[in-house]
Amino acid sequence: MSDCLFCRIVAGEIPADLVAEADEWVAFRDIHPQAPTHVLVVPRRHIATLDDLEPSDASLVGTLVAAATEIARAEGLVEGGYRVAANCGAGAGQSVFHIHLHLLGGRPFTWPPG
Ligand code: AMP
Repeated sequence: MSDCLFCRIVAGEIPADLVAEADEWVAFRDIHPQAPTHVLVVPRRHIATLDDLEPSDASLVGTLVAAATEIARAEGLVEGGYRVAANCGAGAGQSVFHIHLHLLGGRPFTWPPG
């Protein structure tokens, strides 16, 4: 989608601090990090919210989670622990309507989240 921020980052039209990429996804650093490490894992394909996922997207979702864990290892987050989160809908705090996983690490986390 031409008016989607993350589609434009995926297409290279808007710069981002790229961490890793593969056929189905791109990972880049969040512009407003909420932890010392805050990476977004974003599918190349536009899907607005988690609620728009189809059963046929199960493999893609698994690939995104595997990407987040791989990046967590590469960023040295495993020993201290890390959080993988996704917001679905404005009420849950979603502000960019192209699904993404937040990978957060490098500080302690509390539960429940705000
Ligand atoms: P969410 O609020 O769950 O939709 O997450 C969207 C995230 O995208 C937020 O944490 C923003 O800080 C981040 N963000 C917004 N614009 C950019 C950008 N240009 N580059 C990197 N991260 C961004």
